[in-house]
Amino acid sequence: MKAHDGMYIDGAWQPAAGKDTIPVVNPADDQVIAHVPAGTAADIDTAVRAARAAFAGWASAPPAERAARIGALRDVLVARKDEIAETVTAELGSPLPFSQVVHAGVPIAVAGSYAELAAQYSFEERLGNSTVLLEPVGVVGAITPWNYPLHQIVAKVAPALAAGCTVVLKPAEDTPLVAQLFAEAVHEAGLPAGVFNLVTGLGPVAGQALAEHDGVDLISFTGSTAVGRQIGAIAGAAVKPVALELGGKSANVILPSADLAKAVNVGVANVMSNSGQTCSAWTRMLVHADQYDEAVELAVAAAHKYGDRIGPVVNAKQQARVHGYIEKGVAEGARLVAGGPEAPREQGCFVSPTVFADVTPDMTIAQEEIFGPVLSLLKYEDEDDALRIANGTVYGLAGAVWAGDEAEAVAFARRMDTGQVDINGGRFNPLAPFGGYKQSGVGRELGPHGLGEYLQTKSLQF
Ligand code: NAD
Repeated sequence: MKAHDGMYIDGAWQPAAGKDTIPVVNPADDQVIAHVPAGTAADIDTAVRAARAAFAGWASAPPAERAARIGALRDVLVARKDEIAETVTAELGSPLPFSQVVHAGVPIAVAGSYAELAAQYSFEERLGNSTVLLEPVGVVGAITPWNYPLHQIVAKVAPALAAGCTVVLKPAEDTPLVAQLFAEAVHEAGLPAGVFNLVTGLGPVAGQALAEHDGVDLISFTGSTAVGRQIGAIAGAAVKPVALELGGKSANVILPSADLAKAVNVGVANVMSNSGQTCSAWTRMLVHADQYDEAVELAVAAAHKYGDRIGPVVNAKQQARVHGYIEKGVAEGARLVAGGPEAPREQGCFVSPTVFADVTPDMTIAQEEIFGPVLSLLKYEDEDDALRIANGTVYGLAGAVWAGDEAEAVAFARRMDTGQVDINGGRFNPLAPFGGYKQSGVGRELGPHGLGEYLQTKSLQF
């Protein structure tokens, strides 16, 4: 696959400071498809300086001009959507139709939403005898994961640019090619040099150097809770704002009045899509005791449909990790009703769509994020019991409630400690704030709330 052997800094592809490279592997067939440079602290420093130099000009550009550039960026993403989908399929392994609709489609929708928001947003408000100016925070250090690689880039870069910030991006080492493609798109869209910069590299090297750099004013991180905690500590020590989008262990609560078959089928699809590598996946399905056996049967039938359709997980390490969790589920006494810990194919990092029944809330598989195609079915006795189970993890990123009556579902959703709840299978909304309660994170992405993360207020009194 096409890959750049340099970093996109100050509007051009520049040679990396070091000679090391990172192989990019297709997890569907274990083939190395490209190499990208492994950035160092020196590359990060060059990129941060470029972003700093570009900041004053971009921050003072009229919002309409910033909106026009983000709109142009969206148009380039539309023009190159097939290439985006093929790139994500090659480096993440997701089936091409899913890459087309989700990995290419969602970032286009999000970029489009910020092109509109940048033009409409009120960067000034009047409060009593004050005028409050909403000003860009400055240079943003963005660190992203591999599971929705372009979406997570756009969900940070588009609002940062709309706010008037400049950006240095360190994308995940498993999926750097779509990040390079994004840098090309930024270039084609005519963004001024230095407004967006890309440094590929390893997390503990380039990522850490970015988080620790004095010239970065705000860190926006999406990834694991373990690394998020470290990033939060670095930001805390430097007294700089930080946004953390971390893990999840979301509950799919099926109330007795719900359409059980629909709720189970949509729930299984939600967990299996992207091979279970979705931070907001509803990996715990909560079913009333009276309907439990029927729900297990429905879930098994639904999971079997994914047998051949599911893509691999991102790499061999992740495959081993997910298989380890499945073994742990069995060892702790959960009942394996579909899939299992054996690799279904000789080649590639595949995991069988797996369903566990008789999972109790204290089991490891009910508490920890697995990040693979593994669903746990838990039994509840009444609504209070369901709520206790739903809220009984350290996470609070997303969730779902199903009921015959929307108001009944909403009443339950209000009691959930989580940042997003889909009511009876509600659709994705690129304007709705996304982010976590509890250890699922700090801050929100998407829509006007996501834009607000990149602004700080200055109050003028009259
Ligand atoms: P990860 O934390 O290992 O890596 C995420 C990013 O951080 C990568 O770019 C990586 O290179 C970098 N990184 C790693 N160590 C670092 C360090 N010491 N300093 C600075 N940067 C470092 O996570 P992952 O395995 O790539 O992604 C999976 C995780 O991301 C899951 O836990 C998932 O739930 C979470 N996630 C959360 C959201 C959300 O919006 N809440 C979205 C997607 C993924």
